[in-house]
Amino acid sequence: MKLPSEFTFIQRGWLNCNSIIIQADGPPALVDSGHIRYVDETLELIREAGVEPETIAQIGTTHSHCDHHGANKTIKALSGATIGMGPITAEWFATNETYLTWFEQLTQEADVQPADEIYHEGDTVTFSGMPFEVIGLPGHAPDCIGFYQPDSRVLIGADAMWENDLGVLHTAVHGPSILNDAEVALRKIMALDPAIVIPGHGNLITNVQENGEKVLKRIQSFRDDPSRAAWHITRRFIMYGILTLQPISRDNYIRVAIRDDWVSHYLNDLNQTLEKTITNDNLPELFNLIIDEFIGRKLVVEADGMMTCLVAK
Ligand SMILES: [Zn+2]
Repeated sequence: MKLPSEFTFIQRGWLNCNSIIIQADGPPALVDSGHIRYVDETLELIREAGVEPETIAQIGTTHSHCDHHGANKTIKALSGATIGMGPITAEWFATNETYLTWFEQLTQEADVQPADEIYHEGDTVTFSGMPFEVIGLPGHAPDCIGFYQPDSRVLIGADAMWENDLGVLHTAVHGPSILNDAEVALRKIMALDPAIVIPGHGNLITNVQENGEKVLKRIQSFRDDPSRAAWHITRRFIMYGILTLQPISRDNYIRVAIRDDWVSHYLNDLNQTLEKTITNDNLPELFNLIIDEFIGRKLVVEADGMMTCLVAK
């Protein structure tokens, strides 16, 4: 199962989201634009895909996390593209919201470009002359939307469904009900029955029902055992932090990371499966434990006192 020729899938890693270029009957459109730190790389990848960034007429943004809209401002300045997003993201960008967008956590960086257009659930949005249905996909982010192309049955699904996984569920910020929201979003995707889901990170998904069942099980395991959910988010946030700051020494990383207060919200749950209790006073031990695990799994290398991630940016 291949993507129709109108779609160009730019697969990135974990710091930059995947980007999608749509070229049908009009000037090109782009969905999601990566992290602000990698704008030049993003522009280069767009050029390598045969599209001059100066010609992009529309940018669709799936949600407010900073790895999904980092090049919006630059591309708009180059091409005059109109930028569209869901109503909650638009509101957050207009009011410089930094908590619900997670900007003030995780050493995130963003320079938001406000919305020119608002996409509501159920709207039909036309990208490069091709119609897409706007699908609300809350959970990982309360404001997340996807774009479904009904003729080719391709869904741009953002972080609601990844291969065997999904975007982290940050219950400390959004509350425990987001587990239910994430399940509703997955079931919505499965009911649409796309031939292909283009996820916000990772590989294209063509076995949507089977993959959806696996991810539903994962959400159920988070419900059954909150420590699993806490480890999931803690590992991913620490990896994200190292990716953002690398190359960085372990001590410097931990010093920066413990300034963010997100981890303290998960300590109770994390402690359920730890031999030694971690509190705010011995937090570096938690970071060291996870960094050692990453090094053991060859996800991070530490050489000459500096840590670098081996997972894709
Ligand atoms: Zn996200």
